[in-house]
Amino acid sequence: MFLCLSTSDEKWATRYLDSDARFHGPFSLLMLLEKANEVVISTMTYTVVLDSDTVQYYCSSHSHPVYKSTITMTSDIRREKAQCHCGTASVVVSFLSANPPIEHFLCHCNTCRHVEGQMAFYFLPIEGPPLFGGALFNAIAYKQGDVTSYRTSPNSVRYFCHNCSATVLRCDNETDWFVSGGSLCVDNKDEIARLAYHINVADTLDGGMSNHIPSVDGKKLPRYAQCKGSDELHMNWRSENLKSVEDAKKDTRLSGYCHCGNIQFEISRPNFLSATPHAPYPDLLYPRAQTRLSTVRNSSDEKWWLYPPVVRNHHGNTSTRPPLVHQDSVTRGTKYVAGYCLCDICRQSGGFEAQAWVWIPRSNLFERGSSKHIDFVDGPKRPKHLKQYLSSPGRFREFCDTCGATAFWWTTSRSDIIDISIGLLDQNVDGVRAEEWLKWYQDRLSFIETAHEDQKSIVRGLKSGLRVYKEMKHEETPGAQGAQIN
Ligand SMILES: [Zn+2]
Ligand SMILES: [Zn+2]
Ligand SMILES: [Zn+2]
Ligand SMILES: [Zn+2]
Repeated sequence: MFLCLSTSDEKWATRYLDSDARFHGPFSLLMLLEKANEVVISTMTYTVVLDSDTVQYYCSSHSHPVYKSTITMTSDIRREKAQCHCGTASVVVSFLSANPPIEHFLCHCNTCRHVEGQMAFYFLPIEGPPLFGGALFNAIAYKQGDVTSYRTSPNSVRYFCHNCSATVLRCDNETDWFVSGGSLCVDNKDEIARLAYHINVADTLDGGMSNHIPSVDGKKLPRYAQCKGSDELHMNWRSENLKSVEDAKKDTRLSGYCHCGNIQFEISRPNFLSATPHAPYPDLLYPRAQTRLSTVRNSSDEKWWLYPPVVRNHHGNTSTRPPLVHQDSVTRGTKYVAGYCLCDICRQSGGFEAQAWVWIPRSNLFERGSSKHIDFVDGPKRPKHLKQYLSSPGRFREFCDTCGATAFWWTTSRSDIIDISIGLLDQNVDGVRAEEWLKWYQDRLSFIETAHEDQKSIVRGLKSGLRVYKEMKHEETPGAQGAQIN
């Protein structure tokens, strides 16, 4: 409750304060300053100091300002909700509604990839500090423990949901706030922001995800090596720091790690054992909504997570198991199939529109530098910092409890195949796309039917970009039986 709500301008009072008179953005504070210099928010007292065009908020227990924000008096504020999948980290953020859509970028830096577990990431700048339950986010939500903070550099903090791991906010220099693109709940995202360019592409060593989104709506996106305006890297760029393709083929392990280093793992090359699990087809290969269940069940037992495709040996005696497949089927050149998922759960728990997964048999997944397989089930044996989120019955997302990186996904119905966040792979082994290990599926984006592509530039760009990329590489597509093409 505010100490003072009186104002000489009635219109402002109704516009910027909601019915129970909660604080809603920098305007209401500015208005209050005309009458008083002290505001009560919940049980905490803030002293508000106005200094030319900056508002500083002092908490009674701190001598330094807890927040600073710039006063903007030129335009109306558009308030939007941003939320994680489980709903714990739900905030209200403000944009200037008169502004044209923000020209945003995808950041491909090592920090973004390893702290988020995404191929790239983006935030949108917001007006003033975000609100949580009607109060200032940092004072209430964060201190309650609903949100975990992780400092990626001395001046930059990211906030992720302690329960489902979604990064929702970032704050730089204690004053500049940003909301993650994937957590923003708006019908038409293009009204607020459009993808315009790529930055920090040099960190990927092979172009990373920027090769999958060369343009949006026919407009080419600049691929800056570092920040905007730095050298642009062409589509076939490959860093000289990356080993040759021939050398990359010889590696026997591909490692992965989160930003804080608490989650570390290794993947081995496909081998005979990689073809022993059975798994129904994923939505990437056969869209759930349009495919008969009998097909999705994969009755022909295709080992769809391997490329070239591996199928059950029908000539052998099927009553003896294994072998189910010819030993020769999994050759030295066999790769793991990878692709993007656009489903709401991936977006809301990852904070980004396109989660890239690779499917790895558990027999090929190890703790780093060890021959021990990662145990997801047995509590005491699970990696210490791996936190589990039950996104729906029997389906588990696993993330780092310290930095919040999305790491794995698995389900009790096929626990021998684990989805791994490609963003965590060590770019120094084979670049971010790891194409000597992974076979990217380019004909379809998983759950694109639910992704509102007509309202999201990033989804349109990825869809058209993967097609272009496929033509450029003249490659065949995984999925022996020819999946439904969207
Ligand atoms: Zn959550
Ligand atoms: Zn970054
Ligand atoms: Zn971590
Ligand atoms: Zn998904």
